[in-house]
Amino acid sequence: MSQAEIEQRIHRVLSEFEAHSPFFAGYPVNQDFDYTKLYPLLSYPANNVGDPFGFSRYLTNTHETEREVVHEVAELMRLPADEAWGYVTTGGTEGNMYGIYVGRELLRNPVAYFSQDTHYSVLKILHVLNVRNIMIRSQENGEIDYDDLRESIRINRDVPALIVANIGTTMKGAIDDLERIHGIAEELSLPRYYIHADAALSGMILPFVDDPQPFGFDSGIDSIAISGHKLIGSPVPCGVVVTKREYTAQIGRAIEYVGVLDTTLLGSRSALSPMIIWYAFAKHGREGYRQIVAQMLDTAEYAVQQFNAHGIPAWRAKNSVTVVFPRPSPYVVFEWQLAPLQDIAHLITMPHVTREMVDKVIADCLEWPAET
Ligand SMILES: *Cc1c(COP(=O)(O)O)cnc(C)c1O
Repeated sequence: MSQAEIEQRIHRVLSEFEAHSPFFAGYPVNQDFDYTKLYPLLSYPANNVGDPFGFSRYLTNTHETEREVVHEVAELMRLPADEAWGYVTTGGTEGNMYGIYVGRELLRNPVAYFSQDTHYSVLKILHVLNVRNIMIRSQENGEIDYDDLRESIRINRDVPALIVANIGTTMKGAIDDLERIHGIAEELSLPRYYIHADAALSGMILPFVDDPQPFGFDSGIDSIAISGHKLIGSPVPCGVVVTKREYTAQIGRAIEYVGVLDTTLLGSRSALSPMIIWYAFAKHGREGYRQIVAQMLDTAEYAVQQFNAHGIPAWRAKNSVTVVFPRPSPYVVFEWQLAPLQDIAHLITMPHVTREMVDKVIADCLEWPAET
C-alpha cells in the first residue's frame, strides 16, 4: 500500500468517528477526555503481564501505577487499600469473570443466582466456568425479584450460593438491594455465600453522591467489577476488578519464566489502560468526580422532566443517569445510537450529553414515534 493510501484509510476512519460523535447518546460511554499527554508511551512495547502486586521480569510495565489505581478503586468501593487485591482488566466482562471465578474457587461447586436483567456477559461466564446457575425473575423496575431469589435459594439450601448482584443494570440502571440479599441469606441460615457486584457504570457514580444505595464492601460484597471506558472515559476498553487480598492468596500460582504470580485471568495485559485510568483520577480527583456525577444526574433529571412535559413517559432509577422511555422509531434509535430492548429504549446522560442534545432527542422522538 502506498503512503497516501495508508493515510487515506486512517483519515476515513477518523471522519466516521467525528461524524458519529455528536449523536452519541445511548451508550454509557464518556467521550469527554483528552489523553494526549500519554501518547509518547505508545512508542514502547509495554506489558503488564502477571500480578501487579508481584515482581515481574518484564520491566517495561506500569504495575506500580496499576496498584495505585486498584487502591483508589478499592477505597471508593469502601475496602481499605491494604486489604484489597485487584487489577486493571479489559472491561466489565473480564472483571465479572474474575469475580465469579474467585467465588467459584472459594465456594467449590456453588449454585450461581442472577436476575433476568443481568448483563449478558454473566450467563456466558457461568457457562465458560461451568457453574450451575439459576436465573431469577426481575421486577418491572429491573431489580431482582427478592421472593423468587429466596425461594430458589431455599430449594438449594445445602449448596453454597454465588450471587451476582447488579449495581446498576445495563438497561434500566436498577440496583439490587444488598441488605435484602443478606437478609435472605441470614433468614435461610446459608452457611456459605459469596456476592459479586457488577457495577460497570454505577460503581463510579455511587461513591460520589450524598445518598447512595448500598454498593460496596461495607455492604458485604466480596468482589466488584467496574468499567474504565464507561464513566471514567478511555480510548481503549478497560476496567478494574477488586476483591479481597485474602481470597486471591488462595488462588495464585507461580510461573517461573516470566517470574510473576499468575493471579490474573489473561497473560499479557495492557500497560496503557492503568495509565489512562490513573491519569483521569489524577486530573479530576474525587472532588472533580463529585461535580461530574452531579452534573450528569442533573442532566438525567432534566431529561425525565422534559420527556414527561412532552407527554412521553420517561423515568430513571434513584442515582441513575439511565433515562428509560418508550422505544421510538428505528430512525431515532439509529440516529442517536440508542440501545433498545423490546418496547423500551434509553439514553444515558454521560458527561458529553448536554441539555441541547437531550432536547434534540426528544424532538426526534416526537417527530418519529414508534408507529411510523
Ligand atoms: C457494560 C456492562 C458490562 C460489560 O462491560 P464490557 O466492558 O463491555 O465488558 C457488564 N455489566 C454491566 C451492568 C454493564 O453495563
